[in-house]
Amino acid sequence: MIGLLGGTFDPIHFGHLRPALELLEELSFAELRFLPAPRPALRNPPLATADERREMVARAIAGQPGFVLDDREYRRPGTSYMIDTLRDLRAELGGEVPLVLIMGMDAFRGLPGWRAWQQLTDHAHLLVTERPGVPRTLEGELASWLEGRVLESAQALQERPAGGVLFRRQRLLEISATDIRACIAEGRSARYLLPETVWDYIQERRLYRTTNESR
Ligand code: ATP
Repeated sequence: MIGLLGGTFDPIHFGHLRPALELLEELSFAELRFLPAPRPALRNPPLATADERREMVARAIAGQPGFVLDDREYRRPGTSYMIDTLRDLRAELGGEVPLVLIMGMDAFRGLPGWRAWQQLTDHAHLLVTERPGVPRTLEGELASWLEGRVLESAQALQERPAGGVLFRRQRLLEISATDIRACIAEGRSARYLLPETVWDYIQERRLYRTTNESR
């Protein structure tokens, strides 16, 4: 079973890393792949470049067994859509291995805005982690789509290669990349919100010193 963590990672922080490590240890993941999106859809352009964001992910996960950087989205032109990434992974890994796309509750609530969102579970399970301040109740098309898909246990992820949705309570760390960027732009330190190696890199490259999108 392989876990997939997509994101903008502008920058990667402990709110991504600690829940990911706990999932790696608690569930039977052979590996957990971090998939930075060079050109993410549905949001303002990132402040750090695609290469800088990938480099920060690489530094953050260096030396952690089971954590893998997968930069396949950098090899595709245009907007980075998760559905294309999942199709690509299936073509490479075959149809048997369970794939688990991990996302925070905030991302899950926005799922109906994703390209071909109803097909994501043709290729992978979804594992939705709760996030501080994000409500758990769901309504509308997402709630009706969810019917019949909810998995009751992590064990069920391994029984099929794709198709289910598992909600999980993880340790909650109230950290977001938005707050980190704002903190640095205000001249404050982001230390201890993210790995020291990433903080060093941010300082070296003078990232996020301004909220102006065109650095
Ligand atoms: P931004 O503040 O710029 O939107 P972010 O901190 O939410 O960034 P992303 O790279 O957009 O980070 O998120 C990637 C994934 O990680 C998403 O699925 C998101 O829900 C999840 N995530 C981010 N921060 C946390 C956190 N503190 N706890 C749990 N999940 C998180």
